[in-house]
Amino acid sequence: LVSKLPNVGTTIFTVMSKLAADTGAINLSQGFPGFDCSPELVSLVDRYMRKGANQYAPMAGVPALREALAQKTLAHYNVGYDSETEITITSGATEAIFAAVTAVVRPGDEVLVFEPAYDSYVPAIELNGGIPVYVTLTPPDYSVDWQAVSEKITDKTRLILVNTPHNPTGRVWTTDDLSQLAGLVRDKDIWIVSDEVYEYILFDGRTHHSLMTHPELRERTFVVGSFGKTYHITGWKVGYCLAPADLTVEFRKIHQYLTFSTVTPIQYALADYLQQPDHYTQLPDFYQRKRDLFLAGLAQSRFQFKPAEGSFFQTVSYATITDEPDYDLAVRLTREIGVASIPVSVFYNQKNDYKILRFCFAKEDAVLEEAAERLSQL
Ligand code: GLN
Repeated sequence: LVSKLPNVGTTIFTVMSKLAADTGAINLSQGFPGFDCSPELVSLVDRYMRKGANQYAPMAGVPALREALAQKTLAHYNVGYDSETEITITSGATEAIFAAVTAVVRPGDEVLVFEPAYDSYVPAIELNGGIPVYVTLTPPDYSVDWQAVSEKITDKTRLILVNTPHNPTGRVWTTDDLSQLAGLVRDKDIWIVSDEVYEYILFDGRTHHSLMTHPELRERTFVVGSFGKTYHITGWKVGYCLAPADLTVEFRKIHQYLTFSTVTPIQYALADYLQQPDHYTQLPDFYQRKRDLFLAGLAQSRFQFKPAEGSFFQTVSYATITDEPDYDLAVRLTREIGVASIPVSVFYNQKNDYKILRFCFAKEDAVLEEAAERLSQL
């Protein structure tokens, strides 16, 4: 069989989590909470399973969950989405990204990708015959060079993939970023997939500027979210896509043949859970404390860093410590000091030697303290 993804191996998340497990290392590599979700949410799933919510959900998602999400979106962003025609529940953000890219991209279309990029984007583009065109974000601040973006837009550009708050860098887009993007796509047949799975995890008083809050962008954007990040349930794989009705029609044509629908009892449970005063309002404080605890532990180390603006990832530079390639160092640190991380070069298409590792700080305090102490020995 001739591979359709010849440049793709097993994802770095699987590789590093396995190495951490095999070596007994602290796993700050793959991004997932090291603590459990609300017991109440588990009870709700249990209740709905016992009530028989065990068959296929409606293709677009359980209506009560779509409605709850519409209300939450209105309350939080002051933007209305029609639950019937503009909201689709998906099997994780990963499925939503794949479906949105597939809905838009035809063979030969160019798709702008900011790199470092989350690892599912480029395969989704390439499997649809699209051509990724890269705009590089560079340390330490990873801000977007809008002049560079404008130079990469051509008649063939069909889609731009946005991710804010950004994985792996933690960078958060500003309102100026939104205006710049809107200016570049105005009057063009360019659509946008905005991956906003860390929408509620922002630090130091920052606001998440969802692309939906810009009226022009709202009309051409698939906004993708994930309940996994917000409710500490990454293993449940439930996400969503908010998009104007005409885009949602096309999105659902793909979704219905990728998975048809998404796990039923969890959708009912989330619909109820979303009615309650929401724990997402505490997420910034909750994760900022963890970020700061981890960084306080690294204060005496030789790593250099700028505190993450959002997400549950912290990138650090090891340029003053060693010349090793980041992948080699990530493997060595896992084996030798028992702390697993992600080498950030894997998120770039273009070879580089920025010497950056990514650590996930969605872990128990004691785990973060122990990891920082081990890293400080370097
Ligand atoms: N999004 C998570 C991360 O960046 C991993 C998800 C996955 O393993 N596919 O670490």
